[in-house]
Amino acid sequence: MPWFKRVEKGIHTPTEEKKETPDGLWYKCPSCKGVTSMAEHRKNLSTCVKCNHHDRVGSKEYFAILFDDNEFTELDANLTSGDPLDFVDSKPYPNRIVATQKSTGLKDAVRSAYGKMNGQEITISCMDFNFIGGSMGSVVGEKIARAIDHARKTRTPFMMISKSGGARMMEAGFSLMQMAKTSAKLALLSEEGLPYISMLTDPTTGGVTASYAMLGDFNIAEPGALIGFAGPRVIKETIGKDLPKGFQSAEFVLEHGFLDFIVDRKELKQKLTDLLSMIYIKEAEAAPAKTSKTTKAS
Ligand SMILES: [Zn+2]
Repeated sequence: MPWFKRVEKGIHTPTEEKKETPDGLWYKCPSCKGVTSMAEHRKNLSTCVKCNHHDRVGSKEYFAILFDDNEFTELDANLTSGDPLDFVDSKPYPNRIVATQKSTGLKDAVRSAYGKMNGQEITISCMDFNFIGGSMGSVVGEKIARAIDHARKTRTPFMMISKSGGARMMEAGFSLMQMAKTSAKLALLSEEGLPYISMLTDPTTGGVTASYAMLGDFNIAEPGALIGFAGPRVIKETIGKDLPKGFQSAEFVLEHGFLDFIVDRKELKQKLTDLLSMIYIKEAEAAPAKTSKTTKAS
């Protein structure tokens, strides 16, 4: 027999009268279940103070971490998606875009910017997973292509921070073309001798893994990030075998030779700075005579 029995029926408490801890005061780690204050969690760059689980963050947070004093100039901030296929699923694609823009404050699933990282100029594109699963449509591909062009024009290193469920199905073939476009632009960047660092964060999958995310001069990742092409369930069904432990984690992918290193978010800025200072000398320093051809942003 239960200790408590609800005698009256039909008792409803409106949401606003429910007594709960206010949102956003405490953070419960999904990995170790440890609880810390949200302020502490943010101060720790959204990594768990107890187990170092790296929480998903977006372009706003990565730009704040990497650019000096959070100062940067955003590129192509207002590029938004068309609806080339008149696509309708549970709602028409343009409505989905507008609703997502409203709820996230973002224009699409990637933002590009340039600025200084420990005094070194750099161009960075960073994906946002909360915009339709960080899916790569024509806007994502175009913004990345333009950011690479910006890096070429200003002769600065390029960094890509990926976080994506793959191609955007609402743009079908147009999404897939972005793989070729971004890869071709990266080839031009490479020909011009400019470094490309690709960072894979949780999760990086599908067409993004199969194109720009794995084409870095350095492919790096955050601890514990899910990295793969198809999801584990699909692979398991295809090969008809159980998958090894830790399959598709950044650590597993590193062990199998697809990554150069895994970097803790708290050390990211310094590690990137050290890496770039080793491999890249800005032309102005290397050959002062050639400086006339550089840097004039349009
Ligand atoms: Zn934890």
